[in-house]
Amino acid sequence: MVVMFGSIRRVARVIAAPTVTLAVAARIASGALQPHNLQPLDGVIVGVGVVGLAVRLVPTRRGPTDTEQAPLDLGAGTLCLALGYALTSALGGLAGPLSALPLLVVAAVVALGDPRRTWVVAVCAVVLEVALHRAGHPAIDGLALGMRLAVVLGSAGLHFTLTRAEIARVRTHARSMLKDERQRQRDSARSLRLGATVTQASVLPRSSDDARNRGSLDEIHASLVGLLNLTRRTMQLRTCALLWVDGKAQNLRLVEAASDDAIQTELIPAGAGALGAVMQLGRPVALASLRPDYAGLPYYPTPSGVRCFVGVPVIDDAAVRGVLAADRDEDRPFTTEEQATLESVALQARRLINNERVFARLERIKNDMTSLFEASRALGEATTEDQCLAALTIAARAIVAHDLLVFTAYDPHADRHRVRHVVGDAPAGLGTTEFVDNGGLVSAAVRARVALPYRGQLDPKTQFVFTKALPLKSVASVLVLPLVARDKVLGTLTLCAQRKSAFPDAIRQLLGVLASHASVTLANAAAVRRLEEMATTDPMTGHLNKRALETEFEQRLRSAARFGRTLGLIVLDIDKFKTVNDTYGHAFGDVVIKGLGAVLGRCRRETDVVARFGGEEFVLVCEQTDGPGTFLLAERIREELQNEVFHSEHGPVRVTCSLGVSAFPGDGDTRGVLFERADQALYVSKHNGRNQTRSASPMDIPSDPARRAPVTARRTARPVSPKISKSA
Ligand code: GH3
Ligand code: MG
Ligand code: MG
Repeated sequence: MVVMFGSIRRVARVIAAPTVTLAVAARIASGALQPHNLQPLDGVIVGVGVVGLAVRLVPTRRGPTDTEQAPLDLGAGTLCLALGYALTSALGGLAGPLSALPLLVVAAVVALGDPRRTWVVAVCAVVLEVALHRAGHPAIDGLALGMRLAVVLGSAGLHFTLTRAEIARVRTHARSMLKDERQRQRDSARSLRLGATVTQASVLPRSSDDARNRGSLDEIHASLVGLLNLTRRTMQLRTCALLWVDGKAQNLRLVEAASDDAIQTELIPAGAGALGAVMQLGRPVALASLRPDYAGLPYYPTPSGVRCFVGVPVIDDAAVRGVLAADRDEDRPFTTEEQATLESVALQARRLINNERVFARLERIKNDMTSLFEASRALGEATTEDQCLAALTIAARAIVAHDLLVFTAYDPHADRHRVRHVVGDAPAGLGTTEFVDNGGLVSAAVRARVALPYRGQLDPKTQFVFTKALPLKSVASVLVLPLVARDKVLGTLTLCAQRKSAFPDAIRQLLGVLASHASVTLANAAAVRRLEEMATTDPMTGHLNKRALETEFEQRLRSAARFGRTLGLIVLDIDKFKTVNDTYGHAFGDVVIKGLGAVLGRCRRETDVVARFGGEEFVLVCEQTDGPGTFLLAERIREELQNEVFHSEHGPVRVTCSLGVSAFPGDGDTRGVLFERADQALYVSKHNGRNQTRSASPMDIPSDPARRAPVTARRTARPVSPKISKSA
């Protein structure tokens, strides 16, 4: 029962408002809702509207209460509007006694409603207003209607604009408060020299710096508060405060104070009042019998009425870095023992701050080491050049925030640079840029083998990084690190940032270490790649070798079987090659083998595998190619080679080849069988006069009856008859 009631309530909540609003608009516009003409239906509509409004206004027991929610939701607002207009219409319309009621309702609904939905309320009000105008009551003129509509739209627009402005104001205020607080913490850290004196400064992004400074500062403040409170209690002081100079020693800033008074938190000029005297003299200054209106203690915003004061300098690295101020209300001058105690407190305070400084510096060094260690580990695990570049990218990002990272590869033989890897905001076309040695920073860094530019600042008027045609817009800081391994320059790592001074010395040094580590990894990866290539490639032709072919063939055969595809195999052998060697020499024979390799490279499709099987025998594996298709490709290769002219010492030479073809699945389903069938076909080609293609299956060559004979003979010996065609 409760569930059913809940469901009815939910449905009523959703549909009541639009239904009632539409029904009221329709009734008003049709002229039905008039004093002399009220019907039971009007009573029902108004009744539903009142119930719907009540349901919306009674708060539900369950569900979280949203404190930011407007007092009147959209449904309740439109119901109020509909009921207001219905009442006005029923009592005589725009010329009746309640003509102003709708405008009041609109103003109230807009003011109490959700500002994001104001426009819906405005649209409903305009619709109802126009309906009322057309209802046939004693009419008002167009100007009066225009004024009413202006009030409706004006109140909605005003509310929307004011709300937006208020939200923007609150946001700006919150942002500025946050910024001020961050700045205050940074200033405080700087004045305590947590950051400034660390020679090899932090390499962590700024947010980490902030977090670390905050941690160190909290520690300092907690210890100082304890020390100052203890001093205040034991010496019956009104205030015991520690002030510290800012970076340029022009101002003093309160670090911590033990006092019941409000102490000045703004900067105090370092030469002001009694504190200025302590700063200048560099020794304790004691004042007694002060007048109640004495204004020379600038750590009080207004004269405090204290009668005695002692200021003790805090000396660090032979310079006055701060003042420990102590005062009391009673005119009882500070004794020598008390002054000595305060000097000890000042010393203790300085030690505390120094300890924290050392701690902060150690933290930084630890973080630098962690970054390098992480980078080294990632680089150590990288075995390919791509993995190495990915590790380098991650490490560079952890070390310094930047907007663009580019790796260029250098080819010393061609003296060319190629952009190999780009991450970040790059100008269009940078990713595929290649350029020869030029006056840019990348070229210069490779030539000089040092990081450039000297200060890490880019002057776009006189300098460019890659090529003049690709200027880097709004980049203020650049660092180009040459990657040098075993005395060879492999390329460069370039970092760019839009902010100025993004790569200070400490960062450059750290990135330099990273770059030299990455260089070795890159060189190793390149060596591994070359070894792998050597293990799988025939050096004379650049095609696969026999071992690699067997692996590739097996893989492709398996995948053809799995996906039900065809696979073609061509075995090819140069005709009477011994004679070529004997007639023109072995070196010329090599030229011919390379030439055939080039012909195969031209004829193959991208998915075909070409391999030098041994001597002057080649094999092609053609994916998704059936017997006839493979045969056609073989014929094209034969014709191409036949037309190729090789130039020997004795003039131009042409050679021919014979080919055998088989195909999966028609001619067999294992590597061995397919090879055997293609090899048999090759034997038949040789036997039948060479310079021709034979297929293991006769139906693969339907158009040529001479070649229909099935291949049955096993390949045992090759007929050799030296007949090299010598081109005229
Ligand atoms: P056929 O028409 O029957 O194939 O006659 P052929 O003379 O070509 O006979 P076969 O294919 O058996 O001869 C292969 C010759 O190729 C033997 C060898 O001297 C030569 N050869 C093998 N490898 C190389 C190589 O790398 N360079 C050169 N120049 N010759 C090679
Ligand atoms: Mg041979
Ligand atoms: Mg041969």
